[in-house]
Amino acid sequence: MYSLIEKAKEKIRKAERLVAFTGAGISITSGIPPFRGPGGLWSKYDPSILDIDFFISNPKQSWKYIKEIFYEYLLKDVKPNPAHVALAKLTCPVITQNIDNLHQAAGSEDVIEFHGTAQTLVCMDCSKRFNRNNIDLSVDIPRCDCGGVLKPDFVFFGEQIPKDALDKSFMLAQICDVMLVVGTTGEIMPASQIPIFAKNNGAFIIEVNPNPSNYTGGITDIFLQYKAEEVLPKLVEGVKDVR
Ligand SMILES: [Zn+2]
Repeated sequence: MYSLIEKAKEKIRKAERLVAFTGAGISITSGIPPFRGPGGLWSKYDPSILDIDFFISNPKQSWKYIKEIFYEYLLKDVKPNPAHVALAKLTCPVITQNIDNLHQAAGSEDVIEFHGTAQTLVCMDCSKRFNRNNIDLSVDIPRCDCGGVLKPDFVFFGEQIPKDALDKSFMLAQICDVMLVVGTTGEIMPASQIPIFAKNNGAFIIEVNPNPSNYTGGITDIFLQYKAEEVLPKLVEGVKDVR
């Protein structure tokens, strides 16, 4: 039987410009809960701690929870899972909404972090960046050499998407002929527009999600209803040799 998985493999193998677009669903098995939905972070924490205006006015209060969530709990000691590893084997650009660094940890070299990263901290005054491992996070408010407050280098509520990431993501969406959409339901603007833009520019859309999303039945050409870590290793079997 010519299964959907086989059909998707064929498309991936023949793609001239393959691009992957990922979201929270790919990292759940690595132990990172999603932000939204039942059991998500925002059912336990007030999202306003990541509001940029709140952060500027109350850095100490924000940092208390930022440390707890991102540096002592959520992203501490997380490792890539078979989905990240499989995607790295495709050696294609990966546009991710995740801030967990797991695509890079799995070996993907061209990763566009649409929402930034928790790996670095940025000074609110002079914009200097620091690796999180070089900063003492035990203090109330981590600061730059210049005295400015450091902020995790991911996009807070009320902040713009980093211009480089925005431009490169939509450029890739425009030129790709196949887009592999994994673990994202298309609810968060403007990231959610990336696969739609790809589709409008002629790309074939392969979607991997455990449940139907905003894309399914709309722009999706092949819907693989699986968890990412179940199906991605199958999708890349034999593909790398041919590409
Ligand atoms: Zn500074």
